[in-house]
Amino acid sequence: MNLTSHDLERYSWQLDVPGFGEEGQRKLMGSTVLVTRCGGVGGTAALELAAAGVGHIILAHAGALRLDDLNRQLLMTTEHIGKPRIASAARRLRELNPNVEVTTIAENATPENAARLVEKADLVIDAAPLFSERYALNRACVAAGKPLVEVAMYAMELTLTTILPGKTPCLECIFPENPAWWRRRFPVFGAVAGTAGCLAAMEAIKVLSGIGEPLAGTMLCGDLGTQSFRKVSLHKLAMCPCCSGR
Ligand SMILES: [Zn+2]
Repeated sequence: MNLTSHDLERYSWQLDVPGFGEEGQRKLMGSTVLVTRCGGVGGTAALELAAAGVGHIILAHAGALRLDDLNRQLLMTTEHIGKPRIASAARRLRELNPNVEVTTIAENATPENAARLVEKADLVIDAAPLFSERYALNRACVAAGKPLVEVAMYAMELTLTTILPGKTPCLECIFPENPAWWRRRFPVFGAVAGTAGCLAAMEAIKVLSGIGEPLAGTMLCGDLGTQSFRKVSLHKLAMCPCCSGR
């Protein structure tokens, strides 16, 4: 794939990033990323990937837009309340970058559909609020050998890691069971969700283009209340029901 004069101009500011260049851009343009879901975290990640020129973005997210989504879901617009979130998200990505192919799937991940959602993607960003969705995506990505960026936030805090099947611990190594403290409804500042989304997008860009060092086997834990960040080493579970033996 050769870059056109339009591509060279549109992406010129990132083509100058050391180590990225035209080869990195070609890799992004030849890549497909699944983002689920596309709320405050995933929506911001998808927006950054569209801006960067990832060739194909698959958005998976069920449900209709509500007024209380709008403090964080930057791909949505007020007049879209009551309509499918996925349609508003896709429209915003296409407005930003019409060169990006956007596929919409109005579903959240389940054990039944995860393999199908993951099938066409080169990399997956998991921004799901429920551990049941996260476990389903983790199993599908480990089975298919696809990189999985796991990103989450709560109030002022965020966590991020990149799972490389066969190389790093998987989600079930990190959280063998659905954590008892987890709640479906949790406190969210849009700026914290958006920060987590940008960090996740950067993990995807690094893995797909081969620049930098992804958070493989490491979890970044950030507290925006104090702006303190630390990295925690992760370890494979010897008897992981998902990834041991792979
Ligand atoms: Zn595992």
